[in-house]
Amino acid sequence: MKIFIDGEFYAEDQAKISVFDHGLLYGDGVFEGIRAYNGRVFRLIEHIDRLFDSAKAILLTIPLSHEEISEAVLETLRQNQMQDGYIRLVVTRGVGSLGLSPSTCAKGSIIIIASSLQLYPKEFYEEGLKIITASTRRTTPAGLNPSVKSLNYLNNIMAKIEGNLAGVKEVLMLNEEGYVAECTGDNVFVIKNGTLYTPPTYAGGLGGITRQVVLELASEMKLPLKEIEMTRYDVFVSDEMFLTGTGAEIIPVVNVDGRDIGNGKVGTWTKKIIGAYHQLTSTTGAEIF
Ligand code: PMP
Repeated sequence: MKIFIDGEFYAEDQAKISVFDHGLLYGDGVFEGIRAYNGRVFRLIEHIDRLFDSAKAILLTIPLSHEEISEAVLETLRQNQMQDGYIRLVVTRGVGSLGLSPSTCAKGSIIIIASSLQLYPKEFYEEGLKIITASTRRTTPAGLNPSVKSLNYLNNIMAKIEGNLAGVKEVLMLNEEGYVAECTGDNVFVIKNGTLYTPPTYAGGLGGITRQVVLELASEMKLPLKEIEMTRYDVFVSDEMFLTGTGAEIIPVVNVDGRDIGNGKVGTWTKKIIGAYHQLTSTTGAEIF
């Protein structure tokens, strides 16, 4: 595997960054998880735009342009002869002193890893996930806004640990007011009486790229949509539920906190949306070669 660091490619065991990088010392940096399917990178521009928005929000200067980063992502896939895979694009604050001020970091570092990622075994896509609600609340947007895809994922990891202890693969996270925010690495959707519902991003979730694709698909499918604050009650009484994320794609949920969602089986709208999503990922995107 060849890994991109600041314009050069390194073998896996040579791909290293400084212990003084504030990305390591403080989780100071931003990242993207991107997917390639069938020789194309899905929604590359959207991912690069979000990376720049995340960086802007934390006043981090990315040392390459949008076009240069896009090209670096494509070149990393070419160097690894990859047509399909998961790309991790990271921009750290760079090397600085041990103090937390970013002012000591002269230049950010860009890392691109092209690999594979299997978030969930195949049977979960067919049978659906059982999840629970975490006690850990999603970080308030007034602190670190979850729209910033930062390297600081401890809030999500704390919730993930709750899931691990309970023996479930994903957990629902609420915001400080108790409304549904998102899961640890995915956005949340439910369907009730033929309408699709998802929390607005101001409820404390990432503006997911897969979420955006699902909003577009719903509109094409004439499935009415409401971006509205949701409680756990709204989740419990929904007919269908699924999560969205670049890594997870679209994964059905069939049980939350012991309550079956609908009849406890993967719903028909969910199956339709999964089919349409696969159709889109296999036929659109930035060409690698
Ligand atoms: N929420 C969080 C916390 C995430 O980390 C992610 C990405 N894995 C998502 C939602 C989904 O975003 P996207 O569809 O852009 O991958």
